Amino acid sequence: MKQSNRISTLLGDGDGDAGWGTFLKARRMIAAGTDVIELTIGEHDIRTHPDILTFMHEAAIGGHTGYASVPGIQPLREAVATRVQAQTGVPTTTDNVLITPGGQSALFSSHLAVCDDGDTALYIDPYYATYPATLRAVGAIPQPIPAHAVDNFQPRASEIAKHASGAKSMLINSPNNPTGVVYSRATLEGIAQVCIENDLWLISDEVYDTQIWQGEHISPRSLPDMAERTLVVGSMSKSYAMTGSRIGWIIAPEAVIESLINLATHTTYGVAGYIQDAALFALEQGAPMERDIAAPFARRREIAMQVLAGQNVVKHVPCMGAMYLMLDIRATGLSGEDFADALLESEHIATMPGESFGRSAAGHIRVAMTVDDAAFKAALTRLVEFAKGVAE
Ligand code: PMP
Repeated sequence: MKQSNRISTLLGDGDGDAGWGTFLKARRMIAAGTDVIELTIGEHDIRTHPDILTFMHEAAIGGHTGYASVPGIQPLREAVATRVQAQTGVPTTTDNVLITPGGQSALFSSHLAVCDDGDTALYIDPYYATYPATLRAVGAIPQPIPAHAVDNFQPRASEIAKHASGAKSMLINSPNNPTGVVYSRATLEGIAQVCIENDLWLISDEVYDTQIWQGEHISPRSLPDMAERTLVVGSMSKSYAMTGSRIGWIIAPEAVIESLINLATHTTYGVAGYIQDAALFALEQGAPMERDIAAPFARRREIAMQVLAGQNVVKHVPCMGAMYLMLDIRATGLSGEDFADALLESEHIATMPGESFGRSAAGHIRVAMTVDDAAFKAALTRLVEFAKGVAE
């Protein structure tokens, strides 16, 4: 039987599959008993806080295991709206909030809400690996816009403008995975202007908004005339180490949320009630818990700055936010893929080649700061020594 064209062509040629060979090879080595340090996947080395889990357990035992309200339970929508309004100053009510099973589902639903079949959906390269296929999944045509190492991967509005005419949406992500860059006000204002001039929807993936090391997180929804055309994707995954619980949200104009509730009714039918209760409990812990979850990455970023100081072979993109470090290894003469592969073979350290996040990050590798401090320092030190050896 023939499957649909849409699902058969979900993964396009070359988007995001370059470089995953290293990741799979590392997993094979681990399965065969080799001690590999994995600096690959964006997941905390701590688990969800026991207090959140206790609350989740009690909510489930207490009976919140039936169908939950599809848009999300009202107190959680309220907590999210309050948080967003406090952080951005933009008036936000529960009618602007849909609770989703994670940020990934929110990315899909957001695009489905604004793109028709065959519409062009813009996104920035380097990109979070799922983006192109998510856009294809809703029937849109993904169009990458390169950001450049020379600009520290802050996208140029002029480059977006070149592709904006006739496009339907623009997807951005700050703090950024994979680069660790936080978009400046000037960058965001430039993007907003292109969106307004070309009547584009803006989808702003802000799942790393609690992990800021330098600069400030500005939600583009707060820029003039942007709230009416912006959908913000949020998640409890990174901010509260709740990756497996699958809970996030979309903030959007009321009419869009109304449509998205229809979509949720016919797709996910909402998020488990006890997970929503636990998310509400977590949000009530607020900033102190968010800081605790983010703290290990802040510490490791400092460690990285020390290890990388005083040499010129491994350069780094300014690590302003998120749990990643983007290293420029072009001085070794190797591609990101070849470097990552050689590093894995020689040092048993697994990293992600920049090429797995699009063309613009070629010659780079992404290091996830997701192992304990001592192991992280040792691995990064060996990585630098290895790079020096290659460059000689
Ligand atoms: N956006 C970005 C940029 C991410 O890195 C991730 C997860 N790695 C997601 C969205 C999706 O996160 P989740 O579905 O766990 O909320």
